[in-house]
Amino acid sequence: MTGDECIFCKIVKGEIPSTIIFQDDICMAFMDIFPISEGHCLLIPKEHFTNLLDADEAVLQHLITKLSLLDRKVSAAYNDVGILNAVANGEYAGQEVPHLHFHVIPRRPNDDFGFRYPEGYRDSMAPREELERVAGLIRNATEA
Ligand code: 5GP
Ligand code: ZN
Repeated sequence: MTGDECIFCKIVKGEIPSTIIFQDDICMAFMDIFPISEGHCLLIPKEHFTNLLDADEAVLQHLITKLSLLDRKVSAAYNDVGILNAVANGEYAGQEVPHLHFHVIPRRPNDDFGFRYPEGYRDSMAPREELERVAGLIRNATEA
């Protein structure tokens, strides 16, 4: 998808309305239109990147600082919330909008939201050799 068709690029350009929290030359924080919980908002770069796998490093450095700022602001706006940050990279990870975005999701006691883990996944720890094998696979992988 190019920036021309991208819904978040349209939000950046003001072609689609959004409720902005803050913005600067590089990024924009705005409310998610389908909030999972009250306070759910998004942080995006103004430049179009699909996700963390193709994003520019200098932009990412800026974004992490602003993500922390947004987390602190949401935390200050509410009492007793935990803040979940999530980024989906790719369709199989659940990414629907193919423009890099960080979710800022307030979590409250007994809210009806969370990652779904497979049944019984903690029944046994992974054997050390298996962890070494997988770590080796990742360690030795070269970026595409
Ligand atoms: P994803 O599933 O790609 O990680 O998350 C995309 C997020 O964008 C969803 O939480 C969805 O509610 C939000 N979203 C989709 N379209 C719009 C829109 O037009 N405006 C806003 N503010 N949020 C949107
Ligand atoms: Zn875009």
